[in-house]
Amino acid sequence: MAKHRDFQSLGKRGPVFSNDWKLAGATARKFYHLDAAPLQSAARMIFQKTTGRAILAAAAMIVSAVFAPARADDIRVYAADKKNYVLLRDLGLLYGATVSGPVERQVALISKWNRLQFTVDGREAHVNGTSVWLHEPMTTLRGHWAIREVDAREVIDPLIRPLRYLQTGGYRTIVIDPGHGGQDTGAMGPRGILEKMMAFDIARRLRTQLMKAGFQVYLTRDGDRFIELDQRPERAKRWGADLFVSIHLNSAGSEANGTETYTVTAAGCNSTAGGKVEGTEIGNRYDTLNSELAYQIQRATSSQAQTVDRGVKRARFVVLKHAPCPAVLVETGFLSNRREETRFMSEKFRDDLAMGIARGIYNYAQLVRMARHETPPQAAPTQQLALAAPTPAQPVAAAATVPLAASAPVPASLPAAQPGHIVILPTKPQAPK
Ligand SMILES: [Zn+2]
Repeated sequence: MAKHRDFQSLGKRGPVFSNDWKLAGATARKFYHLDAAPLQSAARMIFQKTTGRAILAAAAMIVSAVFAPARADDIRVYAADKKNYVLLRDLGLLYGATVSGPVERQVALISKWNRLQFTVDGREAHVNGTSVWLHEPMTTLRGHWAIREVDAREVIDPLIRPLRYLQTGGYRTIVIDPGHGGQDTGAMGPRGILEKMMAFDIARRLRTQLMKAGFQVYLTRDGDRFIELDQRPERAKRWGADLFVSIHLNSAGSEANGTETYTVTAAGCNSTAGGKVEGTEIGNRYDTLNSELAYQIQRATSSQAQTVDRGVKRARFVVLKHAPCPAVLVETGFLSNRREETRFMSEKFRDDLAMGIARGIYNYAQLVRMARHETPPQAAPTQQLALAAPTPAQPVAAAATVPLAASAPVPASLPAAQPGHIVILPTKPQAPK
């Protein structure tokens, strides 16, 4: 097994990073201050009316630890112009990474285990070579490279430190959702290939692979049937889904090609393709798990099927918004592209797509099991699926570190933010260059 980016380094970075479980008490205290304000005041009211103060304080702390969302409170946050930002400099310190660039508009964070690349004034990032789209472009804050807090917490950090987030995850029951069906044919290729047929075929191949690996699998439709969109997450709920994976084929002009994996947009944020900003949906309960699942599937699928990596993207699709568990929608390839349509006609390509998605699910499940300190399964998965976690970034020699270019923003001094506390900056962030 290849070493995973996060696991091997755990324990080598001192107590702050060494053990998520031992940190539970300290983390609970931070939640108590930062995230559990209503709970805190409720606890305080009870506190004043009773004599069992110590017991109640301890109880409130346990309650806040149980109900607080999994958040990494060692992330420093700066607020400017009513928006919250995290500096790449601080993420670098957190991840033991060197910040360098920009080179060809890319600012890189490189550690022994990870390579993160952000685009100047852009939303596309790369996490160990896989494309991941942020909700908002990277910008500068008083001369420091910065991304929005939501992107640091819900998009990037879960991929770099997955064990902090995945303890609550499940993985045994997978609901596969073949897109469209019946009178809803979905997209049609230049040669007349229908999306509904291909999506169903890939879903069945995926089911076979997952069942071989020991997962319990359901399909939202068992043939060429029409099912309303909202019935699909409804079925997932009824079947007790741990994960929901919708399979589609894309359509846009004749040139576009490649694979992209969608997960639900964070509350109050723009989707990758724009559109209406909405509030919190059921699917947003799983924001950090969604990121990890989408990343693993996107990474494994584009690599296995040798498709163009169009990245992890965000959209408020009905099946994602209403999903009762972590959920993604894979746009496996473009039916509108004649060459890609031809590839879909080959059984090998559909097998590769199914195997790629299965590998992504399997890798995600392995991470959850590690986060939950579970022992390996009694039944080993099939040879083909017994794959290593994603290859970590190659260690980078010091010589490869690029010094800050002349065009880099000149860092201004910022007040020292304590992790878990937000520093409010009085002025607007500097306009990105
Ligand atoms: Zn579709």
